[in-house]
Amino acid sequence: MAAKKKEEGEMRVKKIENGVVIDHVNASKAPAVLKLLGIDSTFPGTVSILMNIPSAKFGLKDIIKIEGKSMAENEINRIALVSPHATVNIVKDYKVVKKHAVKLPEKLEGVIRCPNAICISNREGVPRLRVEQQSPLKVRCEYCERVFTEEQLA
Ligand SMILES: [Zn+2]
Repeated sequence: MAAKKKEEGEMRVKKIENGVVIDHVNASKAPAVLKLLGIDSTFPGTVSILMNIPSAKFGLKDIIKIEGKSMAENEINRIALVSPHATVNIVKDYKVVKKHAVKLPEKLEGVIRCPNAICISNREGVPRLRVEQQSPLKVRCEYCERVFTEEQLA
């Protein structure tokens, strides 16, 4: 029993060698974040998800650790769509070399697809959506002019 407990503790704090640790993800939003980042069953690296962890700042939070992943700035900011308080830690050789607070841009150009299946931006051109309201989130597609909420985007 004691041995099992120790094992679980180690798993929870296990460090990654190279990759990203996304902290302060809104509770239960980790799967939505992975979806936004395009991480699915074809991703070759190890992905660890910790959900509903007690956090001093925001009640419960999720943490995602992705081994072997590098992230561009627009990819980092995409996370703000479902987790505006998230921080992205870039890890190299087991050390955090950079910390980014995610920031929702005013314009999402080529970041996410328009959820409207018949929108022309899904067939040609680069999808462009404008953030009209941060909380609760509302974005408008510049092509079909429809407005979408967070639930519709993730
Ligand atoms: Zn559209």
